[in-house]
Amino acid sequence: MTNDTQSKELTDGFHLVIDALKLNEIDTIFCVPGIPITDLTRMAQAEGMRVISFRHEQHAGNAAAAAGFLTKKPGICLTVSAPGFLNGLTALTNATTNCFPMILISGSSEREIVDLQQGDYEEMDQLAIAKPLCKAAFRVLHAEDIGVGIARAIRSAVSGRPGGVYLDLPAKLFAQTMDAISGKKSLIKVVDAAPRQIPAPDSVRRALDLLKGAKRPLILLGKGAAYAQADADIRALVEKSGIPYLPMSMAKGLLPDNHGQCASAARSYVLAEADVVMLVGARLNWLLSHGKGKTWAQDKGAKQFIQIDIAPTEIDSNVAIEAPLIGDIGSCVSALLAGMGSNWTQPPVEWTGAIYERRDKNVAKMAETLAKNPPVMSFQSALNVIRNVVKANPEAIVVNEGANTLDFARSIVDMYLPRKRLDVGTWGIMGIGMGFSVAAAVVTGKPVIAIEGDSAFGFSGMEVETICRYNLPVCVIVFNNNGIYRGIDVNASGGADVAPTVFVKNARYDKMMEAFGGVGVHATTPAELAKALEEAVASGKPTLINAVIDETAGTESGRITSLNPQSAAKNK
Ligand code: ADP
Ligand code: MG
Repeated sequence: MTNDTQSKELTDGFHLVIDALKLNEIDTIFCVPGIPITDLTRMAQAEGMRVISFRHEQHAGNAAAAAGFLTKKPGICLTVSAPGFLNGLTALTNATTNCFPMILISGSSEREIVDLQQGDYEEMDQLAIAKPLCKAAFRVLHAEDIGVGIARAIRSAVSGRPGGVYLDLPAKLFAQTMDAISGKKSLIKVVDAAPRQIPAPDSVRRALDLLKGAKRPLILLGKGAAYAQADADIRALVEKSGIPYLPMSMAKGLLPDNHGQCASAARSYVLAEADVVMLVGARLNWLLSHGKGKTWAQDKGAKQFIQIDIAPTEIDSNVAIEAPLIGDIGSCVSALLAGMGSNWTQPPVEWTGAIYERRDKNVAKMAETLAKNPPVMSFQSALNVIRNVVKANPEAIVVNEGANTLDFARSIVDMYLPRKRLDVGTWGIMGIGMGFSVAAAVVTGKPVIAIEGDSAFGFSGMEVETICRYNLPVCVIVFNNNGIYRGIDVNASGGADVAPTVFVKNARYDKMMEAFGGVGVHATTPAELAKALEEAVASGKPTLINAVIDETAGTESGRITSLNPQSAAKNK
């Protein structure tokens, strides 16, 4: 630290980083302190930033990514060098895959020693390792370049297709001093970080012509549409067009799931039967069977696509796209709305009627299943409780991961407002649970309900301490069926070890929350679960409900059993 007389005229790397972030209205850092960034976390807090300190960098990184998705500003994750950096890198890569804007800032060791591989403390060429795994990567060596470094990181994260950015800050940089006035001048306030991208008029016309000619049109909303924060226009487009829509999991709630045009409960039917599909911020990846095959009845041919996306190279990634519409979703949707004019013809009722009839039948069938109350809770009887609580508290944010717990919750728990559902995303990964929950609570201040498979919860479970430490309004519900997929596998060798998918029987996850001063509840019936969840949402107290689920209830890999090599080979 500099003494008083010097500090009037000098600044240092630490303060320039903090000032550059604050200048750009970034007010929160998700981190794990340690060499060489411990002082940076202290000083950031002293300078009025919210510093949320985690137990493992992956969860701090996931929190930054979720914050980015919810706010359209890059979430910041701060880690130590080498191992801390690597732990954060999983989250950075996942954010990039999901198109969420975040910046991973890692301290690093001495360049001179690292590059000569002379064996420094936590020696690693972090920049080189990060580069292929994120959208952009930068290193700053001089204090006077910190402003540029942060500006480039922000722009890279949020402009065009959003993604993860790595910023490498060597230990030496933090202690570098410079004249405070020149320091201040060196910082950049980023103007228009994510410029609107207006679609070309002829591409708007092409899309509208295709949509107009459709007999069986369908709108498919993805998490890009949720991210865009063009909620009112998207709703207006769906309603004015009269076209049935299908939300991808994180687009649920963009329009309420009980909306008259929602086709979720007739998903297979609409995907197979639609003749023109308009993708709005959704990629034709594995989650949509690549736009091919039986799911889309592409054997019958003739299915045509309109795709709204900010990334021109996404187009034709899996199947031919007849009408690409490149631009930001807000601009594209408002251009479509304007182009539709006042005499738009609604799609034929033979199409919409057939969909809604199927949907209503499936919803009624589901209601019967949900009303059942088996002696040991099923996924459905437990999720029915959560479904009702979310309906009564539509502002609550649902975080969801697991296999069966994910699949069932996605279809059973309806969402009513945009960006209230955070889940395993494009990779379908486990481990996002507590990181996403912390971010959702910190960023929105709203109640968070984390619906977690017992296996999924294990990846980030230690962060319940973080939840308690910051007294966050998070209620974690662990769907405890004693194992991965289910708890009944046996060791085929007859040996003493349990099967690889089986956990300790009748574990009490609720005790973990109690260990840190939160509320723990052991729930074996829907009534107990409902009481505990309602109390948690009302009180905002950190809560973990150990929901005991029938250990025989799960399916191998949930709904993606077909991706296991044996099943894949059989299906060939
Ligand atoms: P989902 O998994 O919900 O189907 P994806 O992550 O596959 O959604 O697709 C999101 C798409 O949205 C990506 O192709 C991305 O380029 C696009 N996208 C993200 N933000 C915007 C935006 N503001 N405007 C237009 N497209 C966007
Ligand atoms: Mg399980």
